[in-house]
Amino acid sequence: MQVVVIGGGVVGVSTAYFLADAGHEVVLIERRGNVAEQSSFGNAGIVAPAYAVPWAVPGIPRKFLSYLFKGEAPVQLKPRLEPALWRWIGQWVAECNQPRFHINQQRMQRLALYSRDVLHRLREREYLDYEQTSGFLQLFRTERDLALAQPLLQIALDNGMPHNVVDAEAARAIEPALCADTALAGGLHFADHETGNCSLFTKQLKQAAQAKGVTFHFGAEVKAISARERRVSLHVEDKEFAADAVVVAAGVESAQLLAPLGIQVPLYPVKGYSATVGIKDYEQSPQAAIVDEAYKVAITRMGNRIRIAGLAEFGSRTTDLREAALRTLIKVGEDWFPNAANYGNAQFWCGTRPMLPDGPPLIGATPVKNVYVNIGHGPTGWAMAAGSAKLLADIVSGAAPEIDTEGLSLTRYIH
Ligand SMILES: Cc1cc2nc3c(=O)[nH]c(=O)nc-3n(C[C@H](O)[C@H](O)[C@H](O)COP(=O)(O)OP(=O)(O)OC[C@H]3O[C@@H](n4cnc5c(N)ncnc54)[C@H](O)[C@@H]3O)c2cc1C
Repeated sequence: MQVVVIGGGVVGVSTAYFLADAGHEVVLIERRGNVAEQSSFGNAGIVAPAYAVPWAVPGIPRKFLSYLFKGEAPVQLKPRLEPALWRWIGQWVAECNQPRFHINQQRMQRLALYSRDVLHRLREREYLDYEQTSGFLQLFRTERDLALAQPLLQIALDNGMPHNVVDAEAARAIEPALCADTALAGGLHFADHETGNCSLFTKQLKQAAQAKGVTFHFGAEVKAISARERRVSLHVEDKEFAADAVVVAAGVESAQLLAPLGIQVPLYPVKGYSATVGIKDYEQSPQAAIVDEAYKVAITRMGNRIRIAGLAEFGSRTTDLREAALRTLIKVGEDWFPNAANYGNAQFWCGTRPMLPDGPPLIGATPVKNVYVNIGHGPTGWAMAAGSAKLLADIVSGAAPEIDTEGLSLTRYIH
């Protein structure tokens, strides 16, 4: 089939690759000048199935409220008169109970574990090298934070993920440069979880996709999709193109493209920040990745640079860099690795997570014939991209998916 993929982020490029691999004739349309220039550009880089958990956690709305009055809080809400925001919050609160959390978490874990396997196969097959590291250490500053990590521990146990609960001394043995002056109650270590440079990966995969025949059109914005009898028609800038099928993988903008087709999805952009800085002293730098659970900020090693990323801002649709957020990132970097870099030289970035209120992404067919989606990966789109793309390609091709697709499709929202 002739298939058009809309969106050149990690999800769209991975989708184009697997569709071409399945024998389709694929065109990818991206409005920017290259791949991975939006959410996939400056993310934390974590590929950790244990961290692929919904944000709709029982009890979290109360914690969320307490954050609203703290300047350094990991979550910020800019109250706006925006119905989509309040609708999203209402749907999210409705998911914050134990039965729903369990269901959503199982769905995300299934996909994240599969995605890791697909990523490994892909990496070997295409000789990809994207500054990947092994090892993921969650840090808890206080005993209270450590106690609150119980659900994370349970997820690791339920899914048979090898892990170690470590005390402060053992955590410092894993990451020897961790600053001794910063309070540390303990950690949770996943030796086989990984990180990698998402943007570098996407650019390498673009080349592999081109070698499989995928055509990339940059600087071309899809304005509308119309369904025809047997084909779909795309309005790109002032031209019209026809294809046998289209896959919408346009990140946070996907909702606007789908709405005129009568497909309503509660995708909301949740803003986050990152700081990237060159390493000054390798001995004093992280070996792999840590997450400071008090601030929900990750510090990852990316080759000869360190990336500090995280924070969540609701209600902000601009690309403004909020000073307080940047200060929080630098504070966390200095707290744990004070001598690793000259943090004053950091390059800052902000991006949005394409978030659905319940958590798992939407992969597969839509009620409109020949229109497919691969959207809504939220805070773990890099970790889930390879698996989501392979799954979507199998669905489009009519091949049997390698995992159970229950709960990963639009039927969650459209019956
Ligand atoms: C601070 C931060 C930290 C994060 N950390 C992690 C992490 O550690 N691990 C992880 O797994 N995930 C992480 N994420 C999430 C991850 O970055 C996203 O889930 C992922 O990048 C989404 O990829 P995407 O391809 O769906 O979207 P994008 O990368 O945004 O790609 C969508 C593309 O579609 C294009 N587009 C949109 N509309 C149109 C149109 N009409 N026509 C043509 N093109 C169009 C856009 O230009 C864009 O390039 C983080 C996100 C943030 C913000």
